[in-house]
Amino acid sequence: MYDYLVVGAGLYGAVFACEAKKAGKKVLVIDKREHIAGNVYTEKIEGINVHKYGAHIFHTNNKKVWDYIGQFAEFNRFTNSPIANYKGEIYSLPFNMFTFNKMWGITAPKDALKKINNQKEEITGTPKNLEEQAINLVGRDIYEKLIKGYTEKQWGRACNELPAFIIKRLPVRFTFDNNYFNALYQGIPIGGYTKVVSNMLEGTEVKLKTDYLENKTYFDSIARKIIYTGAVDAYFDYKFGPLMYRSVRFENEILNIQNFQGNAVVNYTDRETPWTRIIEHKWFEFGKDENGRDFPKTVISREYSSEWKIGNEPYYPVNDEANSRLYEKYKKLAEQESNVIFGGRLGEYRYYDMDEVIASALTAAERELK
Ligand code: UDP
Repeated sequence: MYDYLVVGAGLYGAVFACEAKKAGKKVLVIDKREHIAGNVYTEKIEGINVHKYGAHIFHTNNKKVWDYIGQFAEFNRFTNSPIANYKGEIYSLPFNMFTFNKMWGITAPKDALKKINNQKEEITGTPKNLEEQAINLVGRDIYEKLIKGYTEKQWGRACNELPAFIIKRLPVRFTFDNNYFNALYQGIPIGGYTKVVSNMLEGTEVKLKTDYLENKTYFDSIARKIIYTGAVDAYFDYKFGPLMYRSVRFENEILNIQNFQGNAVVNYTDRETPWTRIIEHKWFEFGKDENGRDFPKTVISREYSSEWKIGNEPYYPVNDEANSRLYEKYKKLAEQESNVIFGGRLGEYRYYDMDEVIASALTAAERELK
């Protein structure tokens, strides 16, 4: 009999399993995929750690979380500075003085502020949706060129039908600072995320290609408690109807050149380009392998966003009003499952960042294992 069956070998599951094992518990981790690490999974291609399920840049203000993950890997000094490509025009992200200079030719912060203040006059009252929130933050010019197309591609919905909070993730600065995150700690684990998760799971029994929901009765019988990190609606057999997710498809290419785009992340913010962004993975590690040698080739991934259908991998919960209401119904059911802890992006239907996932798993572990 296991003390804990952890369903899903992603970050949430791995952190919980690691803590439970440390506390002397007997733990089994299962995952339906053929690899550990969930969507933070990285795989070496041409020597480069490729983020197979999209770019993951670790960033946090939470010292406890930073120290925690630091036990499992050393981090490099990568700072995320994505670039926006709007019909061939290049802009700096997040929105800062470099962006304002390129957009309006201004050089002084007070002039940028004036421009934005003028443009945001069209919004009266509290912004009710992403479009209003965006215009209120940076004005209409930036909204039209750098936000509207990208957001509509990423979410498959009009900006005035999306919740305002999505855009609050992005900083707006009146300084010349291209650092995408307002985080005290930031970097990419040297050697890749798969190694981090594998270190977390060291000494714990893991079974891959094993689907919990297909054999739920059996799995429930072999453990005292379940940590479930899969989709919450799938757990309840979509009883109230499926929650919506966005899925992502990647087209990976190995190119026989050293440098394709000169940056790890380039966002294509116009509506016409079918992909949302292109990742050039080698720049997450400064183009060099662990011995300091330049990678001779490069690997790029074009990212296409699509609506999730049963059978696809879900990536982003669509936290609009209808889905949030639907989730509340599932949450009530989840709370009644006294033997199950629902965790992570899919288990809690939340647009969590990695550090939030770790913090949440640590809190659950502390509560559970005390
Ligand atoms: N966003 C945008 N333009 C960009 C980058 C982001 O409008 O060039 C908006 C978009 O609505 C997106 C949100 O900001 O959904 C959050 O972007 P982020 O890059 O944080 O998303 P993630 O990396 O989690 O996909």
